[in-house]
Amino acid sequence: MKKHNFNAGPSILPQSTIENTAKAILDFDGIGLSIMEISHRSKEFQAVMDEATALFKELLAISEGYSVLFLGGGASMQFAMVPFNLFEKKAAYLNTGTWASKALKEAKLFGEVIEVASSKEANFNYIPKQYTIPSDADYFHITTNNTIFGTELHEDIDSPVPLVADMSSDIFSRPIDVSKYALIYGGAQKNLAPAGLAFVIVKDSVLGKVSRAIPTMLDYRTHIKEGSMFNTPPVVPVYAALQTLKWMKELGGISVLEKINKEKAALLYDEIDRNKLFKGTAAIEDRSLMNICFVMNDEYKSLEEEFGKFAAAKGLIGIKGHRSVGGFRASTYNALPKASVIALIDAMKEFEKAH
Ligand SMILES: *Cc1c(COP(=O)(O)O)cnc(C)c1O
Repeated sequence: MKKHNFNAGPSILPQSTIENTAKAILDFDGIGLSIMEISHRSKEFQAVMDEATALFKELLAISEGYSVLFLGGGASMQFAMVPFNLFEKKAAYLNTGTWASKALKEAKLFGEVIEVASSKEANFNYIPKQYTIPSDADYFHITTNNTIFGTELHEDIDSPVPLVADMSSDIFSRPIDVSKYALIYGGAQKNLAPAGLAFVIVKDSVLGKVSRAIPTMLDYRTHIKEGSMFNTPPVVPVYAALQTLKWMKELGGISVLEKINKEKAALLYDEIDRNKLFKGTAAIEDRSLMNICFVMNDEYKSLEEEFGKFAAAKGLIGIKGHRSVGGFRASTYNALPKASVIALIDAMKEFEKAH
């Protein structure tokens, strides 16, 4: 049976990414060795790193003055690396969910943190809009897509201080104006590559301004200078990332993906709103295009487990909601085909008819 992969992360990747990476694990570039057993300094791997970095910049139209890095440690490492490099006296954070809270907690180790707004009182089901960013903050940190709660900032906001964004779960889902950001980071395992890799886009001119000593590995300047090769990078995830970047380019780039993502999300949200059994959990204007959260209407709550099993029997995988929201979450990342969304919608309709 065909599986429809709605996992939240690690999550679905393009078939070509998986196939090409599998080939390179067996025989990389026809050299008779696996990509896993050669030097990262070999000319073959250097070419992979160079091409991945260049394509990453091309797809997001990243201008001069920014560096793109591939690092280990995941997005969670960036929660600490950002303040290490940018925090002097005070930082501002927008608290929109579990990941935003974790980022904020790390920053507190470095000094005064202003939580400009939080939607915690409503179980993070919306993104606060009314807040003031202190003009004396060293930076302002946002989480553009809240993977667990299914809310998303659909625009690049303006900030009077350097803007830092965790884009783990919506990078490459829509065109972004990188020039509005000082730094963007994320774990690769939602829209780009297998786990074990983080990407960082950093404006070179924001670095080197803090007075603390920064451990070499945690200093962005180390990795800029060494082209993400200060130490051994996660070579297989970088190779896979390159395959996904190529797939996105072949499709026609990020604006094409955005169009498909909007279409997929609209189809599913329309069904959630129409179907008598279900309701969405996120504020309508903040609904995520990547993680679509829904629960059963109160009078049908007792059917939740049954629908989970019904969906699983139809090959719909990974739709159980995160424990902090309950219900269901369908992650509709770039690589998820529209046919999978339609399969889920069909299951929702069929289940409605039976009840
Ligand atoms: C998954 C996720 C993280 C954590 O990523 P790791 O690579 O596991 O550290 C952080 N932020 C957001 C928004 C996420 O979706």
